[in-house]
Amino acid sequence: MKTKTHDPGTPLTLSRKALALIDKAELTPQEVEWLNQETISNFRNHVNPGFLEYRKSVTEQGQHAAIEWRASGPNTLIDTQGREYIDCLGGFGIFNVGHRHPTVVKAVERQLAKQPLHSQEMLDPLRALLAKLLADITPGDLQYCFFGNSGTEAVEAALKLAKAYQSPRGRSAFIATEGGFHGKSLGALSATSKPVFRQPFYPLVPGFSHVPFGDLAAMEARLKAHAEQGDPVAGVIVEPIQGEGGVIIPSDDYLPGLRRLCDEYGALLIFDEVQTGMGRTGKLFACQHSNTTPDILCLAKALGGGVMPVSATIASKKVFSVLFDNPFLHTTTFGGNPLACAAAIATINVMLEEDLASNSAEVGEYLLDGLKSLARQHPSLVAAVRGRGMLQAMEFHDNTLGYAFAKGMFDQGVLVAGTLINAKTIRVEPPLTLTRALVDKVLKRAKLVLDQMERNHTPESPDTSETRLAVNA
Ligand SMILES: *Cc1c(COP(=O)(O)O)cnc(C)c1O
Repeated sequence: MKTKTHDPGTPLTLSRKALALIDKAELTPQEVEWLNQETISNFRNHVNPGFLEYRKSVTEQGQHAAIEWRASGPNTLIDTQGREYIDCLGGFGIFNVGHRHPTVVKAVERQLAKQPLHSQEMLDPLRALLAKLLADITPGDLQYCFFGNSGTEAVEAALKLAKAYQSPRGRSAFIATEGGFHGKSLGALSATSKPVFRQPFYPLVPGFSHVPFGDLAAMEARLKAHAEQGDPVAGVIVEPIQGEGGVIIPSDDYLPGLRRLCDEYGALLIFDEVQTGMGRTGKLFACQHSNTTPDILCLAKALGGGVMPVSATIASKKVFSVLFDNPFLHTTTFGGNPLACAAAIATINVMLEEDLASNSAEVGEYLLDGLKSLARQHPSLVAAVRGRGMLQAMEFHDNTLGYAFAKGMFDQGVLVAGTLINAKTIRVEPPLTLTRALVDKVLKRAKLVLDQMERNHTPESPDTSETRLAVNA
């Protein structure tokens, strides 16, 4: 039975109440109480109660935790209770230019006042301008853009583009990497490696296999085996740095090595920079650290400036031209809409005007040094700290410790990610606008939390109440 009231007046009343709240900047205590209760009961009955259990498990007191309300600055947000959090998670990499950057907000507002969505028949100018800008800022001969609304769609388009290019050449196989994450649609999921996400959905798209990340010999062996079996590889898809996989940074010769192997074996090289792109790692695109250009590049997450969802799949003319004869071979209604393009154009402007990639490199290094020094002080808790730019991870000795740290930081008003899938590795992925002053605050709070954990921690007898909550996948 649905838990749902049958009063026909309710949806109208509720929608009015919701609109009134959206219209408000601040809430009265009564409104806060009402909104919190509605949020929890509607998650329980209409979204997915699993999220409530998850939130409970990652908060110190086992409370449902915070209900977010608004961004209070470029690097901070506040909940409905007025508690402020330093954002060291950046929405898993969407808030690169900070929260509500005025240039992005203004561009979207001005476009909203003119024409939010496109006719789908006439030529839309912002799509054309954004495509040109992306061709200009991306490396090498990347020149043509397809726009979507999510990272998954960017990957899906990349895979389809590679197939369209390679199928006349008798190639359909793809090689991805262990620990790689590329999204969860059936196509993108075929490239994603995590068994827990894949297992319920077999059979996936045929022809995908995975080799260890960072291992050129394994990649070469697989390419060779495919060639010898008469099933040559169409494409190789990798993240230049694995994000969801735990911020895994390959050696400097990995990407150039992949480029060389793909050229040798006739495979297209696809870089999924959905998370590493847009300045995250200290350069506009992570592949620029090793001067490597893929045939197809996927962008999303931060491309919309933390204001609009938008993704791009950018390819060389050689590859993209298979879509010239029939541009309708792969389309989506909302991809490249005027609001999304306005946001992305503004985001590129901000990235360049404020040189946020450099800030990511500089302040990122300051933060990384601080976290490394904390790790040295707590070797029984922290196994490793690694990162590039503002894509960083603290690896704890086990899930229990990682969870405890994420909870402790949350209690201290700092958002970091103890992900459901890998609590052992805590991701630190703040807006690239983070300042040294805020880094100092974060480090001070991290020290408090680690000192407290050290006092509670006896390696021989892990706290079983915590172990119960740790999700081990
Ligand atoms: C987040 C992510 C995706 C999926 O993007 P969505 O917008 O969630 O669909 C794909 N690839 C990488 C590398 C990601 O980090």
